[in-house]
Amino acid sequence: MERYPNLKNSDLEIYNLIQKESEYESTTLKMIASESYASYSVLEACGSMLTDKYAEGYPNARYYEGNEFVDQIENLAIERAKLLFKSEHVNVQPYSGSPANQAVYRALLKTGDKVMGMPVPSGGHLTHGWKVNFSGIDYTQIPYGPDPSNGRFDMDEIRKTAKIERPRMIWVGATAYPHKIEYKDFADIANEIEAYLVADIAHINALIIAGVHPDPVPYCDIVTSTSHKMLRGPRAGFILSKIEDRYQSNYHSDSKLNLAKRIDRAVFPGLQGGPHLHIIAGMAVAFKEALTDEFKNYGIQIVKNAKKLANALLDKGWQLAGGGTDTHLLILDFRKEQFTGKEAADALAKSGIIANFNMVPGDHRSPFVTSGVRLGTPSLTAMGMKENEMERVADWIDRVLKNINNIGAHTTNIRNEIAEFCSQFKIPGIRE
Ligand SMILES: *Cc1c(COP(=O)(O)O)cnc(C)c1O
Repeated sequence: MERYPNLKNSDLEIYNLIQKESEYESTTLKMIASESYASYSVLEACGSMLTDKYAEGYPNARYYEGNEFVDQIENLAIERAKLLFKSEHVNVQPYSGSPANQAVYRALLKTGDKVMGMPVPSGGHLTHGWKVNFSGIDYTQIPYGPDPSNGRFDMDEIRKTAKIERPRMIWVGATAYPHKIEYKDFADIANEIEAYLVADIAHINALIIAGVHPDPVPYCDIVTSTSHKMLRGPRAGFILSKIEDRYQSNYHSDSKLNLAKRIDRAVFPGLQGGPHLHIIAGMAVAFKEALTDEFKNYGIQIVKNAKKLANALLDKGWQLAGGGTDTHLLILDFRKEQFTGKEAADALAKSGIIANFNMVPGDHRSPFVTSGVRLGTPSLTAMGMKENEMERVADWIDRVLKNINNIGAHTTNIRNEIAEFCSQFKIPGIRE
């Protein structure tokens, strides 16, 4: 089937580049932990004429006429998300994960307020108060992170910091934490100091849907997420929240409004203009897919695959940060090796295994080279790979790393083997 025939006619340069990227992704192992594959159906909704639409406001309360049908689309997205996450309130308008998090700050805090979050090198996200991001410039980050000695959260240490600093809000969420997060433990701390607890589940939402990771919704005031990454929807963000504000103080200028209303106002008109209805339609499609048993099995298999891959690499003598994984990602730990995370990621990419270099707990190298490589299983799982395939992937990774000083001779062979291997699988959105 010829895809994008009109684009091919009108803009061959862009058409060819999309073809090349698609070819690249079809012949390599995509192990970026934050990526997966959206289906043809999601892509079709996102590529629809809804991109033309203006609908500032919310369903049944728009600033434009002519929104009968897009109101139904946005309501479907909201209803499906409520069902999926058992959440009281959902906002599906954030343009991406970062704007969703920005809206949380605007809804809860005043400039300068203290926010507890993980610094980027510890595995936090930029928007959790990192110094070069708006969140670290306009607010004050109180840092916490995994214990360097074992890579796990030390809840006593976190409680101590929280009690001394008394942040207004606590972020719980990570981009490179291979263990389960126990939201209840964080909720106990937040309750003790009357702070808002906000989970950021961008990386792990499908695991929560599949029931293989603790669910933050019962414990958190607000939960933010992306709809891309392992959820396999469009590139966008959404916010789940309680309706009532349990600290309905006079603190916030809008505190007469409940929490749900404050979130909605922070998104629009606080930060954004017109919602991206084509993307919201794609989100609704992705949520429907995520409500199926097939998707739950995908979430379960992601973790099985990560564990299998972790064990296979440990068996071959490689070290993993935190000793292994119970999520979708693992971090190879090269602190004792002569080569850096960057060199390893580079050699892996040349051989057809696409990942990223990453800090490990207790890293002595700089963030520009690091001692780690982060590997995720969502994309391979979306292609239909299971434990057996993870053994082969571990073999290739092992071969690349063992020959890292002489990789040239091995690269082409491994690259070809991997391309041949990938051709045996379907790829959602590319070759279904
Ligand atoms: C990816 C991610 C985000 C931000 O998403 P963008 O869509 O890239 O803005 C926020 N928080 C966490 C934990 C993430 O992993």
